[in-house]
Amino acid sequence: MMASIGSTTARGYGADHQKERAKAKRIVDAGQAHCWRCGGWINPAMPWDLGHDDHDRTQYRGPEHRGRECPAGGNRATSGRRVTKLRRWNL
Ligand SMILES: [Zn+2]
Repeated sequence: MMASIGSTTARGYGADHQKERAKAKRIVDAGQAHCWRCGGWINPAMPWDLGHDDHDRTQYRGPEHRGRECPAGGNRATSGRRVTKLRRWNL
């Protein structure tokens, strides 16, 4: 882990987000990414998001399925309907 994590300011999607997303993208493109919410594999051909912690929006949790692709409900901002109830992969 790099030392910068945890010290970011809550400015929304700035340079840090771009950097983190680029990092995650490399893993997704390599076919090695798993959704931090449900633990499922992320298909590089499918849309995905860089997920934030639900309780601390300044923390990145990693790549996640977008909305309804995710059995765990995905990002609440993009899923709308489903409620997150599966919590199998709390690290
Ligand atoms: Zn998922």
